[in-house]
Amino acid sequence: MSGLLAARALSDHFERITVVERDVLPESEEARKGVPQSAHAHGLLASGYRAMDAYFPGMMDELGARGAPRGDVVGDFLWFQYGRWKLRHDAGLRGITVSRPCLEAAIRQRVKALPNVTFLEGAEGVRPTFDAATGRVTGLAVRPRDRSAQQTLDADLVIDATGRGSQSPKWLEELGYGQPKEISVRVNVGYATRIFARTAGDFFNSIGGIISGTPPASTRYAAVLAAERDRWVVTLVGTVGDYPPTNEEAWGAFAASLPVPAVHQLVTSARPLTDIVSFRFPANQRRLYERMPRFPAGYLVMGDAVCSFNPIYGQGMSVAATEAKALDDCLAMGLDGLSQRFYARARPIVDIPWAIATGEDLRFPQVEGPRPPGSALVNRYLERVHAVASQDPVVCRKFFEVLNLLAAPSSLMSPRIAWQVFSRSVPKGEGSPWGLMRPGPAGPIK
Ligand SMILES: Cc1cc2nc3c(=O)[nH]c(=O)nc-3n(C[C@H](O)[C@H](O)[C@H](O)COP(=O)(O)OP(=O)(O)OC[C@H]3O[C@@H](n4cnc5c(N)ncnc54)[C@H](O)[C@@H]3O)c2cc1C
Repeated sequence: MSGLLAARALSDHFERITVVERDVLPESEEARKGVPQSAHAHGLLASGYRAMDAYFPGMMDELGARGAPRGDVVGDFLWFQYGRWKLRHDAGLRGITVSRPCLEAAIRQRVKALPNVTFLEGAEGVRPTFDAATGRVTGLAVRPRDRSAQQTLDADLVIDATGRGSQSPKWLEELGYGQPKEISVRVNVGYATRIFARTAGDFFNSIGGIISGTPPASTRYAAVLAAERDRWVVTLVGTVGDYPPTNEEAWGAFAASLPVPAVHQLVTSARPLTDIVSFRFPANQRRLYERMPRFPAGYLVMGDAVCSFNPIYGQGMSVAATEAKALDDCLAMGLDGLSQRFYARARPIVDIPWAIATGEDLRFPQVEGPRPPGSALVNRYLERVHAVASQDPVVCRKFFEVLNLLAAPSSLMSPRIAWQVFSRSVPKGEGSPWGLMRPGPAGPIK
């Protein structure tokens, strides 16, 4: 995803772009080996939606026409967090729910259609080639997956977008630049996913939802997302080693153990279309390339290769899209000093989702990592924000702007929001999954 979006950004600045991909890419929306996470719920935040929509005009309409539901990420969604339903109302934050293979295929099709982009599939990037005299990366050594005949692609710029397993730390060390400092926050998350048939009106007439237990007492979540071809992708999630099972009965029992019955009701009434598949994610992982004292010219690292977040917060693809836009802006000033400019821009893009993901994860005492001073106070304030967001549209909207990476977390502490947070009385009880939406009879599938 990051590589495709980077290629789109580069296409406005370079004569030729080659996307080197280890997999042989499917023509249509199939899952593939190189992206094993694609079988699981992949939510696109409103920030990612905006960035992708701007890069690929008409693509979201096309996905919509193919049955991917579009709607408001608050009003058309169910959010149960910290013991309450968020106020369901139209917050003006547009989004789409679509399976990861379908979204990736749509973007790939658009990138493939760019006249200056070619794909080298079934080819593995082995290492960057380097000119020690100038301190420049000069290209990329690639070889077919069967490891026959290695060749070198000459390039003015090489971007590593190979995901979490990136070899850049090792390659940079071999080139004499040392390795970036790496931080990890181990959270031991397990995913177990099953796809169901979707009928109009299901799941409180929504297009998806996040149902969470309250940490640290509860370690359980569910992510439910409508997808093209009238399907639900239902992912059960357990953190700190509370891995959801893949056996049908135990998976159902895990769904029943969530704080509200909505997901269990859905999975016991809808028709399953697949088996249950699982995935484990050990740790949030961040590599601080921006702090390296020296960095070769003509080289960049992007996407999960820089930072991979606990996926429950649904940030990775949106961060990849925002980084691509930052790269685009940085290239307007040419190649000189590009890495310094890019990492300076990318740092805050990563800082915020990192703070959101690790801040929540560190609520579990089992999760090891530095707890910033004052975090207990911030957490208590955020719990109050969650409660008020079940009642107040202004606080609710601000909360979701932050969650969707459209506003800084500090904006939740502005005087206007803080006043609402402290002054608004919140009735007891969990609220309603309907909020301000009219329940009505089962409407059309959006
Ligand atoms: C279980 C799970 C659920 C997730 N859910 C969400 C979600 O809800 N929302 C969200 O926004 N994000 C989610 N993510 C994160 C999201 O998948 C990634 O952030 C996003 O795909 C961007 O990653 P990337 O493109 O940098 O790397 P990847 O998606 O990992 O892609 C790396 C690519 O590089 C290729 N490759 C690897 N090595 C080489 C090599 N040496 N040579 C050539 N090609 C190579 C791979 O085949 C692959 O195509 C989730 C992640 C996981 C694990």
